[in-house]
Amino acid sequence: MSTRPLFSFFGGVHPPMHKDVSTGQPIDVMPLAERYILPLHQNIGQPAKPVVSVGERVLKGQRIGHAEGYVSVALHAPTSGTIADIGAYPVPHPSGLSDNCIVMTADGADEWTECVALPDYENINPSHLRNIVREAGIVGLGGAGFPSFIKLNPGTHKKIDTLIMNGIECEPYITCDDMLMRERAAEIVAGIRIIRHALQANRVLIAIEDNKPQAIKSIEEAIRGESAMEVVACPTRYPQGSEKQLVEALTGKEIPSEALPLHVGIVVHNVGTAAAVYRAIMLGEPLTSRIITVTGGGVAQPRNVEARIGTVIEDILAHCGGPTAETRKLIMGGPMMGFALHSDRAPVVKTTNCLLAATAEEIPDRGPALPCIRCGACSDACPARLLPQQLFWYAQAKDLDKIQEYNLFDCIECGCCAYVCPSNIPLVHYYRFAKTEIWAREREKEKAELARQRFDFRQTRLEREKAERAARHKKKRDELHSEEPSAAPATETKKAAILAAMERAKKKKDAPRITPANTEALTPQQQQMIEEVEQRRRQSRPNPEQQSAASNGDK
Ligand code: SF4
Ligand code: SF4
Repeated sequence: MSTRPLFSFFGGVHPPMHKDVSTGQPIDVMPLAERYILPLHQNIGQPAKPVVSVGERVLKGQRIGHAEGYVSVALHAPTSGTIADIGAYPVPHPSGLSDNCIVMTADGADEWTECVALPDYENINPSHLRNIVREAGIVGLGGAGFPSFIKLNPGTHKKIDTLIMNGIECEPYITCDDMLMRERAAEIVAGIRIIRHALQANRVLIAIEDNKPQAIKSIEEAIRGESAMEVVACPTRYPQGSEKQLVEALTGKEIPSEALPLHVGIVVHNVGTAAAVYRAIMLGEPLTSRIITVTGGGVAQPRNVEARIGTVIEDILAHCGGPTAETRKLIMGGPMMGFALHSDRAPVVKTTNCLLAATAEEIPDRGPALPCIRCGACSDACPARLLPQQLFWYAQAKDLDKIQEYNLFDCIECGCCAYVCPSNIPLVHYYRFAKTEIWAREREKEKAELARQRFDFRQTRLEREKAERAARHKKKRDELHSEEPSAAPATETKKAAILAAMERAKKKKDAPRITPANTEALTPQQQQMIEEVEQRRRQSRPNPEQQSAASNGDK
């Protein structure tokens, strides 16, 4: 284990952990279900776009949704079967609303599509590796759901000094990373090697809280001989698993507001993500399943299960002995950052790390919210160094400009402030509400801006067309005018040609008949013969008077 000096981070709390509720037995692989519901939107960014149609047969691992836009990843079939529907179904979301999903009916064969492994990844360009991770549908499996390929791309000019692998898992009840590290350490370390290669990072720190001794031992064994990797055991404190707090705890570097760990040469990935990267690169398998902690006093047999993405929550709870009579609330995630589910008919998604079936004792009713007494406990607990009571005040007053001045968007919604608040004020609800309002306002602004741009563009186009039309008409007119001076000479030329032709015809008509050339130079005998012929012709022809008399007599 590392002996490196540890730093700390501001604020934080020590809630009861309840980790042992679900670590009593090994990871249990869920049997094949009959039906899977796959929401198209399972990551931060754009949802996937369906590339299959209803009635189509698909194979396990086949891409059924393609990444739409840059911040997006592909979606894959969790088993072989038929696409039963594409439409709105309940999804796990605090709103309880439905969203677009692909519904699959399993055929029982669980037949894989062709998988292309790349065991010699070290000879492959990092950008190609990133694309494979994107096509494999991998997102941060710690719960955030940010497309992992983006965090494998530091940019051409950024040098990554430290890759931090996050195995902290600081939220109460959740143990999926703990169990994964205990049981599949070799897969995780193989994935870490690939991520390190993609980032060209100098060193790797694998952070694990000291309440997970078995996980620490397994990972240490798996990295034996890896000079660039070390396991760092951190004292347990919530929310140490949050990116900025973890960077500060391990390196002492504070990430400024609106900056990322990348800006100080650090990238943080979750250990579950590393295992998924290993499967994508070394086995050619896309992300079709994940480890989920099913826990709390409200489920009969709490444990960690490996469930396919899209498995209906009701099926998972049934597999774990079903909910008990004491179940009061079903939460996705942990008690600090999770949200209550409206229905167990929704499916698990890529970001589902925990299903907490909580009893009334585990999530006690905190009673009505009382007025803020300005005790300052929330400020002391806030790991983001915010002023939660001020944020609450401005959220209540719907002063969205002021609340942004107090850095609302640095709030990681960890819930530490609400946890310590003696007035039981559900502070995080106010912050989420304010964020939603600001996003809605931004969207409206963007829409209005888009509409304004469209209007301006249309006006510009109309004016341009009008100007072009006017220019065309002017050109035509100018051409006509420029033709007019030459029109008279053209007509005159025509007239002159006609007159000349008429003149020629007249001359021809008036010209004396030409004596045939063969009557010239006749001999006297020939002349005599012609005279005689003419004499006979005249005699044989009646004269005009005789002709007239003859014609009158006929009448
Ligand atoms: S902890 Fe609660 S009561 Fe105290 S200042 Fe913060 S919001 Fe007010
Ligand atoms: S929820 Fe936000 S305001 Fe409250 S402690 Fe966490 S970071 Fe601070």
